[in-house]
Amino acid sequence: MSRVAVVTGSNKGIGFAIVKGLCQRFDGVVYLTSRDDKRGMAALAELNKIGLNPKYHQLDVADRNSVVRFRDHIKDNHGGLDILINNAAIVDSDLRSSNYENSKNVIDINFKSVITIQELIYPLVRNNGRILNISSDCGHLSNLRNKIWIERLSKKDLKIEDLYEFVDWFLESKKNGTFNSEDFADGGTVAAYRVAKMCLSAVTMIQQKELEGRNISVNSMHPGLVRTDMTTGVGFYSIDQAAETPMYLVLDAPQTLKGAYVWFDRKVLDWYDYNADYYFKIKTLVN
Ligand code: NDP
Repeated sequence: MSRVAVVTGSNKGIGFAIVKGLCQRFDGVVYLTSRDDKRGMAALAELNKIGLNPKYHQLDVADRNSVVRFRDHIKDNHGGLDILINNAAIVDSDLRSSNYENSKNVIDINFKSVITIQELIYPLVRNNGRILNISSDCGHLSNLRNKIWIERLSKKDLKIEDLYEFVDWFLESKKNGTFNSEDFADGGTVAAYRVAKMCLSAVTMIQQKELEGRNISVNSMHPGLVRTDMTTGVGFYSIDQAAETPMYLVLDAPQTLKGAYVWFDRKVLDWYDYNADYYFKIKTLVN
């Protein structure tokens, strides 16, 4: 039976480069997925041109029906999967102050989708498999300034309900106009993206506990500031350079590396160090 690797949101950017890298190095079937078939097929054609042949399937991570269809496809055709990279994401449309609707959309795509995927697709991940959640420097706890929530998210027995309440607290503030930029680092820029990515890195640790019995590793990582559409082309690294650490984590890292928050240089950071200087600063992106 072939081994199977899946990358969400891989029609462009870092996800595309990970698919490319996996096609070159992974001994098995690689899935390029996209929410939009046209963009997905164009990406596939680009890889075919250089002799790489991933499989393609539609997958909109924020659409439960689409996740169900993809789950059924994997189940029927392969029986399961071995590597899953949750990469799909968007950023706040207004980097300095996104409204409620946009904030909710960011959280749905960047965080809640991974809960749907956990429910529907994680059961298909085979024993000893690897799951990687592509987070961000925005996903480190040092992005948070609100003392009550720092304390709550630092609990070692953190539950998914804590994260849902954190999200609700944030979205309520956007809805009723009580959002306080001082609750977040860097004056509250890209606040929805920070909330979503902090939740993603935090839920990684919860997911690890749940999958421990099957020796599946679940880690989250920050890929560095990378030149993609998300950063409007600003960044220190190309997509191929940025794909190296994700590839290391799903192919080469010891299986004992579990529930970790990993920096783009492969260093494992203390996610709980809320006083650290790992948070995202918007001046690295725009003047
Ligand atoms: P891009 O914007 O280049 O690519 C994002 C990908 O996600 C696209 O393929 C996009 O598809 C897809 N996507 C968005 N929404 C959905 C959805 N609902 N369902 C399925 N796919 C979706 O971003 P990057 O490559 O820069 O980002 C990749 C990951 O790295 C993200 O998780 C991002 O948060 C993270 N990251 C990136 C950094 C950087 O500097 N670039 C820094 C820190 C973290 P479509 O083309 O249809 O929009």
